[in-house]
Amino acid sequence: MRGALDRAAEATAGQVVAWRHHLHRNPELSNREEKTAALVAGHLRSLGLDEVRTGIAGHGVVGVLRGGRPGARTVALRADIDALPVKDLCGADFASETVDADYPGGPFPVSHACGHDCHTAMLMGAASVLAGVRERLPGTVLFVFQPAEEGPPVDEDGGARAMLAAGACADPVPSMVFGLHVTPYPKGYVGYRIGNQYAASTLVRIVVTGHQTHGSTPWQGIDPMPAAGGILTGIGQIYRQVSAFDPVTVSIGHVEDVGRFNIIGQTVTLWGTVRCAVESDMAEVQRRLAVLAEHTAAAYGATAAVDFLQPVPPVHNSAAWVAAGLPTLRRVVGEERVVETGGTLGYDDVSEFVNRFGGLYVMLGVQDATLDAAGRPVPVPGGRGLVTNHNPRFYADDDTLVTGVRLHAHMAYAHLTGALTVGSAEVA
Ligand SMILES: [Zn+2]
Ligand SMILES: [Zn+2]
Repeated sequence: MRGALDRAAEATAGQVVAWRHHLHRNPELSNREEKTAALVAGHLRSLGLDEVRTGIAGHGVVGVLRGGRPGARTVALRADIDALPVKDLCGADFASETVDADYPGGPFPVSHACGHDCHTAMLMGAASVLAGVRERLPGTVLFVFQPAEEGPPVDEDGGARAMLAAGACADPVPSMVFGLHVTPYPKGYVGYRIGNQYAASTLVRIVVTGHQTHGSTPWQGIDPMPAAGGILTGIGQIYRQVSAFDPVTVSIGHVEDVGRFNIIGQTVTLWGTVRCAVESDMAEVQRRLAVLAEHTAAAYGATAAVDFLQPVPPVHNSAAWVAAGLPTLRRVVGEERVVETGGTLGYDDVSEFVNRFGGLYVMLGVQDATLDAAGRPVPVPGGRGLVTNHNPRFYADDDTLVTGVRLHAHMAYAHLTGALTVGSAEVA
C-alpha cells in the first residue's frame, strides 16, 4: 500500500505544480478566497468524495472521504488557502500581478508570500491519491481547506476558529489532525518541535488621540504623533520585563495617521502583533503594553485606547504525537531529513484544530539551503538564498510539492490503520 501511495503521489506531480502556479498567479486575500475555494471544491467533486461542504466560515471547504473498509478513526488534513497583501517579487514566471482594489485599507498588491498556494495544491494532490485508494482505507478522511489564516479584516470573523464554530469538524470528529507549512529550510526536510511549534499571537491596535490643530501652532492642540513615537520606543523595554528565556516579540508594522504636512491630526493608530513562545506570558505582555501606551500618551496630554484582537493559541505538538508520527515522517522523507527545530514566533491558527483534536503540525523545507554544524539553515552557494515567509521575495521550489502530497497521504493512512496514534490520555 505504501508503494501505491508513492506511485499515485508521483502521478499527481504535474497537476499539483500546475495548480500551484495557477493559485500563485491568482492569489486572494483572507476572507476573499472565492475562486480558490471554487477550484478546490470543483476538484474534490470530480473525485466523487462522499461530501463536499462549501461556504464554511466564508470560503472554507471540507471534503469527506469515507473509506471502503470498516474503521473508527477520522483524520483531518488541513491546508490554508489565503494570500497576503505583499507585492510579489519572487522572480518566477508565474509571479502574481494581482491587486485587490476593494479590500479594507487597500488597494493592496496580493501574493502567496506565505506559500499557502503550495499547501492548497499539495492537499488537492493528496485528495487525488487517497480517493484513488478509498476502497482500502479503514476510516474517514476530512480534507480541510481553511480560509483567513493570515487574519481577516478586523471587523470580520474568519479562520480556523470560525470554521470550527460552523461545524467544519463536527461530523465526523477527527481523531487526528495533520498539516504542514512550507518554510526556508533545506528542500524536502521536515522540521518538528516537541512543545510549541508556533507561538501564541494577538493583533494589537493602539489608537492615540490628541486634538487636531494647524501644523504651525502645536500648542493650540495636542499632537498625538510624539506620543505614538514614545510608545514605539518604549515597547523595546517590554522585552526586559519578561524573562529573557521566554521569547517575546511586539512589532508595530503599520502606522495610520489622519494628519497632513501642515495639519496635526486628531489620531494616530498603531497596528501590530504580539507573539509569545510561552502562552502564559501573553496576559502579562498585554497588560504591560496597555500600561505603557496609556501612560506614555498621558505624558503628552493625549490618550491611548488599546485593543487586543484575533487571539491565536500556540501550535502544540505533544511528545506523544511526535513519537507516534516520527516513524512515518522518517519513512517518507528519509531518516536524515527529519530534524528537530527550534521554536518560532510565527503563528498558525491550525492550533485551533491540532490542540483540540490532537495530531501534528510540521514544517517542510522548500528552499536552496543546507544545515550548518549547529543545525541552522544556511544558503547553498549559487542558490536563491534563504527568504522568510511574508518577504516579497519568498519562494518555494516546485520539486518539493510531491513530498507534501506524500506526507499527507502517508500520515493519513498510518493513522487510519492504527499505526500512528496515541492513547486519548496522552493527547493533552
Ligand atoms: Zn503567513
Ligand atoms: Zn502561512
